[in-house]
Amino acid sequence: MLESIGYCRLSIYTGNIAIVVIFGAFTMHTIIPNESAMLLFAADIAQSLKAGSVVFLEGDLGAGKTTIVRGILNSFGYTGAVKSPTYTLVEPYILAEQQLYHFDLYRLGDPEELEYMGGRDYFDSNAICLLEWPEKAEGFLPTPDLRVFISYHANGRKIEIVQ
Ligand code: ADP
Ligand code: MG
Repeated sequence: MLESIGYCRLSIYTGNIAIVVIFGAFTMHTIIPNESAMLLFAADIAQSLKAGSVVFLEGDLGAGKTTIVRGILNSFGYTGAVKSPTYTLVEPYILAEQQLYHFDLYRLGDPEELEYMGGRDYFDSNAICLLEWPEKAEGFLPTPDLRVFISYHANGRKIEIVQ
């Protein structure tokens, strides 16, 4: 569902990238030094997304998950505010050419709650689904097309992408 994210574009940001191909999947590591570079990085991710793509964004509070969502939305032409839907759990965005759902499952008490809120309808739609804290709904989510792991690093954030 996703096209590969090119080595060349990503190397602009860091010059320090490893791509490991294992059984057809790939993992990529990079260090992103600040928020604006994070938004550019997210724009690259956006280029590889298609209708129905599911992306897991994993990392601690403050890691930069919502920043990546904002970068993706910006690259689809959305310039409004983007906040994690911590209490509502999901925020819909109807964009010019694409519908997108941004989930923040941090406060999901029980994975089954996702069923009650009509989780499957979101995933079965043709929308792009971006999920923060997917680990809170383990077993109730579709297989992601892309997983983005973000962690704190002395020089910004370390990102690992698994496709
Ligand atoms: P999360 O959604 O994971 O809780 P946010 O996206 O809200 O995190 O980001 C938290 C903070 O981290 C924001 O102040 C943002 O500007 C900052 N930030 C995002 N990406 C980076 C980065 N690559 N390096 C340093 N700070 C970053
Ligand atoms: Mg967030």
